[in-house]
Amino acid sequence: MHVAVLGTGIMGAGMTRSLLRAGHDVRVWNRTAARAQPLADDGATVAGTPAGAVEGAEVVLVMLWDTPAVLDVLGSAAGAAPDAVWLQGSTIGADGMREVAAARPDLRLVDAPVLGTKGPAEQGTLVALLSGAPADVAAAQPAIDGYSARSVYAGERLGAASALKLACNAWVATMNAAVGQSIALAEGLGLDPALFLEATRGGASDTPYLHMKAELIAKGEFPPSFTLAGAFKDVELIRAAARDVSVADDVLAGLVAAYGRAVAAGHGEEDMAAVYRAFPPG
Ligand code: NAP
Repeated sequence: MHVAVLGTGIMGAGMTRSLLRAGHDVRVWNRTAARAQPLADDGATVAGTPAGAVEGAEVVLVMLWDTPAVLDVLGSAAGAAPDAVWLQGSTIGADGMREVAAARPDLRLVDAPVLGTKGPAEQGTLVALLSGAPADVAAAQPAIDGYSARSVYAGERLGAASALKLACNAWVATMNAAVGQSIALAEGLGLDPALFLEATRGGASDTPYLHMKAELIAKGEFPPSFTLAGAFKDVELIRAAARDVSVADDVLAGLVAAYGRAVAAGHGEEDMAAVYRAFPPG
């Protein structure tokens, strides 16, 4: 298929390489051109404008930071591919997705956030969360299969897949903060944090995620798969969504405080595991 990717950050770049490996013809655009340029070596065509990237595309994948960025870029690109299916993959929440849908009723929009991070994006093994018109989802499925191992269809309502993404990210953000908290707690109580990993190993509460994030903390190096700033953006979106539907937000309020504190301390561009820095022992 002719696929355009708007936004070649951590996720967009990995998904582009997966789409290319799957045999699609991919044209990309990124606000900071230098971040898109390396994708030319992988076989992508790098366009100078969003409109230039989407012209002639059958599917457009939008992988930007937040709702204002999505609205801004759609505004300048939509006219160039009125018949394409537009996969909105950025994490913008159900409200953001509804705002985008209201602003662009002219487009064949599919709500299409993803689960998984840098590695699965590069390997084409993300989980695609989807909602929208079944015919539009079906038309885009070959491209979706290029970057994902499986899809979860949440219904026709635009915003349903983004709502599901918030529930999933609440889980991930909680686990991630809990790893940092328990390691800091072990250290603060005078224990080697390796003992915490040894004690939980193989039990029902053990998870590969714990070991992945604990390893970064042990090394003290946090190359980003998903930035702390991104996790902070998401926990704020999730808390707002919880409040809208009167779900108690005690845990989310704690997450917003912890992620916010680590961002304010200057760690926003590190991996989200750096939320550990919000719990400095001693
Ligand atoms: P990233 O590396 O920071 O990339 C963000 C992208 O958005 C870049 O292409 C950036 O362009 C662009 N952008 C930001 N503001 C813009 C604006 N005002 N106008 C135009 N472009 C703008 O982040 P990412 O990790 O790839 O995340 C992208 C989206 O996927 C986010 O919504 C994130 O929450 C979501 N997500 C991330 C992960 C993950 O694990 N990383 C997983 C699932 C979903 P520049 O390069 O010019 O800054």
